[in-house]
Amino acid sequence: MIDTHSHIYGPEFDEDRDAVVARAKEAGVEQILLPNINADTIAPMLDLCGRYPNYCLPMMGLHPEDVHEDFQEVLDGMWQEVSLPSRPYIAIGEVGLDFYWDATYRRQQLDAFEQQVRWARDLGLPLVIHSRNAHRELMGVMERYRSDGLKGIFHCFGGTVAEAHELLSFEGFVLGIGGVLTYKKSSLAGVLSEAVPLERVVLETDSPYLAPVPYRGKRNESAYVAQTMKRLSEVYGRSLSEVENVTTKTAKRLFGLL
Ligand SMILES: [Zn+2]
Repeated sequence: MIDTHSHIYGPEFDEDRDAVVARAKEAGVEQILLPNINADTIAPMLDLCGRYPNYCLPMMGLHPEDVHEDFQEVLDGMWQEVSLPSRPYIAIGEVGLDFYWDATYRRQQLDAFEQQVRWARDLGLPLVIHSRNAHRELMGVMERYRSDGLKGIFHCFGGTVAEAHELLSFEGFVLGIGGVLTYKKSSLAGVLSEAVPLERVVLETDSPYLAPVPYRGKRNESAYVAQTMKRLSEVYGRSLSEVENVTTKTAKRLFGLL
């Protein structure tokens, strides 16, 4: 298993981060991929990757909820780091659009997202995309780069069948599936079995958020990706080892980890 989306460098894990990584290894997690959030999270993220080389791997990006007035300055700094030939970053993420809580910086979010899409294109790196209450706008940006060979993950997918079809029409992209799949009231299982081949799915936790059942409401951690995999195996009617092999291979291919 690969946890393709985990923020275990965050302060929620300051007390027991090594134990969290140890539990992930014990649960069979082969690698943990870390999307960046803002300028302040880069140092703790790289620190964790330094402690667990080739196990914890960093991405570079500015999260849409962290796009404020100063976003251009922040992006310029990030570009300096990510454009270095010796960069450790395996992807551009976490980037995207989020108009759920607050659309004050809507214009800036769109601008920041599109700049980072171009980074991914120009550097040949995958994108890890966050989108909430912004499907139309997301498709609007993506459409302009449809023929540019982009690849990546639409992280925390929770949309409809029609949205799944639209997202998967971008051939280099897969859907990131996490704890929400295990929630009783979620319609995600039905959408996946109807519209999404297992080959277009990767596992993620989004730790510390969205812990799967039976840990729902608690702090999420990478080891819990096993719960989501179990549910995925039920949804697709395929064995655990098959689901593990398929999703791991997809993630490794996407991030160049083969
Ligand atoms: Zn995230």
